[in-house]
Amino acid sequence: MAKIPNDYGIDIWSDRNFVIRQGRVCLASGCEPAILDMVNEIRSDGYRGPLLLRFPHLVSKQIAKLYNSFNAARREYAYRGSFRAVFPLKVNQFPRFVKMLIDQGQSYGYGLEAGSKAELIIAMAYNLDNAPITVNGFKDREMISLGFIARKMGHDITLTIEGLGELETMLQMQRESGDPMPNIGIRIRLHTAGIGIWGKSGGINAKFGLTSTELMRAMTMLKEANQVEALSMIHFHIGSQLEDIAPLKRALREAGNIYAELRKMGAQSLRTINLGGGLAVEYAQSASSKSTTYSLQEVANDVVFLLKSICETKGVDEPDIFTESGRFIAASHAVLVAPVLELFSQEYHERALQLKEEGNPPLVSELYDLYRSIHEKNAVEYLHDSLDHMESLLTLFDLGYIDLQDRSNTEVLVHLIIRKALDLTGANLNERDRIQHRIQEKYLVNFSLFQSLPDYWGLGQEFPVMPLDRLDEKPSRAASLWDITCDSDGEIAFKPKRPLFLHDVDLLERNYFLAFFQVGAYQEVLGMRHNLFSHPTEATVTIDDEGYTIHDLMPSASLLDILDDIDYDITDVQKQLKKRIERSALIDEEARQEVLAELYLYLSENGYLKTTRPV
Ligand SMILES: *Cc1c(COP(=O)(O)O)cnc(C)c1O
Repeated sequence: MAKIPNDYGIDIWSDRNFVIRQGRVCLASGCEPAILDMVNEIRSDGYRGPLLLRFPHLVSKQIAKLYNSFNAARREYAYRGSFRAVFPLKVNQFPRFVKMLIDQGQSYGYGLEAGSKAELIIAMAYNLDNAPITVNGFKDREMISLGFIARKMGHDITLTIEGLGELETMLQMQRESGDPMPNIGIRIRLHTAGIGIWGKSGGINAKFGLTSTELMRAMTMLKEANQVEALSMIHFHIGSQLEDIAPLKRALREAGNIYAELRKMGAQSLRTINLGGGLAVEYAQSASSKSTTYSLQEVANDVVFLLKSICETKGVDEPDIFTESGRFIAASHAVLVAPVLELFSQEYHERALQLKEEGNPPLVSELYDLYRSIHEKNAVEYLHDSLDHMESLLTLFDLGYIDLQDRSNTEVLVHLIIRKALDLTGANLNERDRIQHRIQEKYLVNFSLFQSLPDYWGLGQEFPVMPLDRLDEKPSRAASLWDITCDSDGEIAFKPKRPLFLHDVDLLERNYFLAFFQVGAYQEVLGMRHNLFSHPTEATVTIDDEGYTIHDLMPSASLLDILDDIDYDITDVQKQLKKRIERSALIDEEARQEVLAELYLYLSENGYLKTTRPV
C-alpha cells in the first residue's frame, strides 16, 4: 500500500475509530464507509453549511470499554464490590445524543448524572429502570423535592450533599412528609487537587464538598435523625481531562480512608465510592503533544488495587466503585464537517496578471522570468529572490515610483511563485522561511468557531482536524483557518510547533471539506450564538457490513427560529419587513410579491453560507 503522505496523526488521536482508505477518511467499522460519501449524500438534499455527524457505535464502544475495564480489574484482584456508572448530562444533553446513550447503555444498567433541575428532569424521564441517578451541584428545596419525587417514582436516586445546609433540608423534608428518603451521597473536600486547565474541582479551596469537620457533623445529624442508613455514597471529582493518573490515586487514597472511617463511625449502608469523571481524551495530532499518559485499564487496575488494600488495612468491606466520566464517553461520537469556502490567495491566479506591453518596472519583469523558469532545483532560491523583489517593489510603491497595476502584478507573481515553489518542494519548505515570509494560506471555513468549538476560543483546546479526502496527495500549504463570524477571534492560526498543512484546491473545480474530531463532549451546549449562528445541521449515522444509514436529520435552525429564540416577536419582524417593502419607491407593485417570496425563503433557511463564489 502506498505510504500516506500526511496522516494528520490519525493513529494518535482516533483510537482506531477512523482509518484512511484510498485517500479518504473512513469509519473503521463495518464496510468502512467514507465520511465524504455521507456528507455528499446529505448535501445532495440541498443542505449546506457545517454538518454534525453522530456515530452511535462509538458511544457503545466507550461504554463497553468503561465497564469491561473495571470488571476485568475486579476479576483480576478478586474484588468484592461491584462497578456502576452514570453519564453526566452536562457533557451533552442533546436529545439525539442522550437517546442513543441510553439505548447503548441498556445491557450495563448505565445511568445518568444531573447537575441542575432541567438535567434532573431529563434523567427522571428517560433513565433506564434500575439504573442509578446521581444529582450533584448546589440544590435548593425545590430541587431536593424533585429528588423525593424521583425516589417515589421508583428511581435509584442519590442526592449528593454539597454542604450541611442541603443535608438539613433533606432531613427536615423527610421528617415533615414521611416520604421515603432518596439515597444520600456526600461530596468530600480533598486536600489533593487536580491539575490542568479544568482542575479547579478538587483541593482544599475547591468550590464543592464537605471538610472532615463537616463530615463528622453530618454523621451526627444523620444519627440524630435516625437516617444513617440513607448515607450510601461518598463522592469526589478532581477535574476534567486528567493528563496524569497520580492525582486520581492521591484523591482515591484520601477518599478510601474517609470511607473506612465513616464505616467505622457506623455508616453501615455506605457502600459506594464515586470517583467522579475526568478520564482524558486524546486531542493531539502529533506524538510530542500527546496529552494522555495512561490507559483506562491502568486506571481501573489502580483504583481496584488501591481500594482493596485500603480496605484490607482498615478491616472494612470493599466498596462498590462508581464513576461519572463524561468526556471519555461522549467526545469521540461526533464529527463536525465544515466546507472550505475560499482560499484567500486564490484570487492570485495567472489570469489576474496585467503586465504592461512595455514599461514594466525591471523588478516586475524579473519576477515574471523567475515565475517562468522556476523548477525543482532552483525553487527555494527563486522563492527567496521573489520575496526580496516584493519587499523592494512595495517600497517603490510607497515612494510613488510604481503604480497600482505594477503593484498588483507584483503580488500576483509572488503568490504564483510561492505556490509553484510549494508544489515543487512539497511541505518541506524550511520552517523559518514560512514564518518569516508568512507563506501561509488562509482557508475560509463555513462554520462558527464560537458555536461549534467553543473550547478552542475559551480555553485554547485543540481538536484534531483533517481534510476528508485527497489524503494520498501531499498537502503543501501551511494553513490557518478562518470561520465565517466577523470576529477576529474566529481563527485557528497556523502554529509552527503544531503545523497544519492542507491541499491547494481550486474550489471552482471541486469541494474541499475539513473534519473536526472529538467534538461530542461539552462543545454542543457550550456553543454560543455569536453573530447568531445556530447549532449545525446534524444527523445520526449507523454503520453495518453493507453500508451506512443516515437517521434523524435535523436541519440547522432557520433565521426566523433563531430570532424567535432570542425573543424577537417574529410576527412583528415579518410585518415590519412587509411594510417596508410595500412602502418602498424602488419596488413597484408587481414586483412586491416576488421580493416578499424571496425574503420569506431566506427567513426559512439557516444562517450559514452556501458559497462565496459566483454560481
Ligand atoms: C463535570 C463532571 C463530571 C464529568 O467530568 P468529565 O471530565 O467529563 O469526565 C463528572 N462528575 C462531576 C461531579 C462533574 O462536575
